[in-house]
Amino acid sequence: MNVTKELSIIIPIYNEEQNITMLFDRLQPVVSRLTIDYEYIFVNDGSKDHSIFLIKELAAKDIGIRYIDLARNFGHQVAVTAGLDHCSGKAVVIIDADLQDPPELIEDLYKKWKEGYEVVYAKRRARVGEGFLKKFTARWFYRTLKKITSINIPVDTGDFRLIDRKIVEVLRQMPEQQKFLRGQISWIGFRQTFVEYDRDARHAGKTGYTYKKMIRLALDGITSFSNLPLKFATFAGFLVSGIAFMMILYALYSRFISKDYVPGWTSLMLAVLFIGGVQLICIGIIGEYISRLSSNVRNRPLYIVNEKNI
Ligand code: UDP
Ligand code: MG
Repeated sequence: MNVTKELSIIIPIYNEEQNITMLFDRLQPVVSRLTIDYEYIFVNDGSKDHSIFLIKELAAKDIGIRYIDLARNFGHQVAVTAGLDHCSGKAVVIIDADLQDPPELIEDLYKKWKEGYEVVYAKRRARVGEGFLKKFTARWFYRTLKKITSINIPVDTGDFRLIDRKIVEVLRQMPEQQKFLRGQISWIGFRQTFVEYDRDARHAGKTGYTYKKMIRLALDGITSFSNLPLKFATFAGFLVSGIAFMMILYALYSRFISKDYVPGWTSLMLAVLFIGGVQLICIGIIGEYISRLSSNVRNRPLYIVNEKNI
């Protein structure tokens, strides 16, 4: 794809009809202050509301507005990937549509890029208007992920960031089906820096990230960047076999040497249940990796475009 613009702004949209107008009104002054050639890329991720009509309305008014309408809801990470595949900017900003990421920060991100950084991510100082459980699980997840991966994925950052063309080109060459963009971008390297901000509450509407989607994202992040769970399976296997072996020796000793044994229902049940449990855990962990392997072997297109003006 030709690099024709200075800045692309990618905005994934899932049921954001109440936010699109306001978002555009806040983005527009920021972008025009930068006095550069820009494009917006709205990716409609199978919204069930009127989002796509609002986007088309904007696109009819402003030639800087591009859109991609996906055939169904493919999920946030895939929507952003579709935007990355279609953008033509030297610098690319990824921003949420719900105004939790303040558009005004783009100026700071852009300045840092001008200083020569290839990745400028926005780090959340505070999070307003999100439930205790969401904040707690996010906090815990990012810290655990940092501990168990070998790459340095920054904590408390989402996908709100600016990336250079070089990064976009590498991302396009990374074929994995399970997208965990913030991990992939850390893995790529180059000069990375951050600016801090306070995350606002959602302007309107409700989150598109159900707990199911959050758990899937977390598992994608872990399985794509860490083999620790697989190693845990091996470790647990050895540990339990070790314990089981000693119990076998003890059982044989009681049966044949000390002859001091009772028909031991309790210990038998405990051993069987315990070993069975550990086996199931290990099979489950292996299954998580195998399911991802198989989806990569299938190699289906990541998303299907219904319509676009790019
Ligand atoms: N989003 C999307 N597809 C989805 C879920 C969310 O494109 O399946 C978009 C959504 O419209 C928003 C961004 O991704 O622009 C972040 O989602 P959301 O605000 O719902 O997540 P949260 O901020 O609650 O983690
Ligand atoms: Mg949000």
